[in-house]
Amino acid sequence: MSVSGGRRSGVEVSSHGQKSSLCEDGLEIHQGGSLWARWMANRYLRRTNFWACRIDNNFSVTFKAILRCRPVHQTAICRYMKDGTTTDLWLDPWLGSRSLLELLGGQLDRETGMGLTCNRIIRDGVWRPEGYTYTAPLVEEIHLITIDASQTEDTWSWADPGTGGGSGLFCFRSCYNLVRTHHDQAEEVDFIWGKGVAQKMQLCAYRLLRGRLMTRDRLLRFGMQIPDAKCVLCNEDDESMGHLFFVCPVTWPIWTEQCAQLRGGVGMDRDIRSILSWIRDHRGRDPGWTRRARVRLAASVWHIWKEHNRRIFEGLTTPYWNST
Ligand SMILES: [Zn+2]
Repeated sequence: MSVSGGRRSGVEVSSHGQKSSLCEDGLEIHQGGSLWARWMANRYLRRTNFWACRIDNNFSVTFKAILRCRPVHQTAICRYMKDGTTTDLWLDPWLGSRSLLELLGGQLDRETGMGLTCNRIIRDGVWRPEGYTYTAPLVEEIHLITIDASQTEDTWSWADPGTGGGSGLFCFRSCYNLVRTHHDQAEEVDFIWGKGVAQKMQLCAYRLLRGRLMTRDRLLRFGMQIPDAKCVLCNEDDESMGHLFFVCPVTWPIWTEQCAQLRGGVGMDRDIRSILSWIRDHRGRDPGWTRRARVRLAASVWHIWKEHNRRIFEGLTTPYWNST
């Protein structure tokens, strides 16, 4: 499509290409680098937030199209927290790929109000969410986010959804793939966020699905100094999300046991999408079975991740089976 102001010439041939371009435009508006991006933000977002902005008939065709791409856009950008003064506490997706408002089920503490920024729960360069009751279900997740207190401005960057990391620069191919598979991903996300599961477990499973949990391979990729790259559970292979949850000899038996309990027989590959496909293929029309499958999936992810974190925080280095 052509874009207003002659900023980009040429015609994209597919709707996937159009959506990818619109996601790039959305990221540019967040980052505010170009004159066009600053003009758009100043014109449409002066009294609101990009995520909360309601589509108005008076908006330009381009801006309306950008806003309609927000669900795709949201899954592939991250907010790097520094001092928290420019990140909206409730509306910006700084905790994984969903806003605090969504993660807390749309419930907003009236006394807290809107328009607050994340520095409300950061003091002296450290997260201090404990005093705020609304963050209680998410305290552990919040503490896993690194704050760079030496810098001042929070920033947006592009995260390749396949790896959760990357250079931070927009990648058309990863966005194209994201748009192309968005329908399947939306179904997976809806399954994880269904009823009957504790919110902290849903959040953990969602972050695994999106490749956003901070395993040791990601910490190293982000340049953090860690003493060891080996899996904290088996101490045999390098730790990644794929290894920790689905290949590790400590955790894989958990999945085979869960599937056997649900409906005997296991023939899936070792990744979360295969497990979700297995559930979809076996659920039939029994909503009770689907709910049990959702609970088992989220609880398994949660307890593996909780044990992983416990062993790191307590400095345990022996393999799991030698220490329990
Ligand atoms: Zn392992």
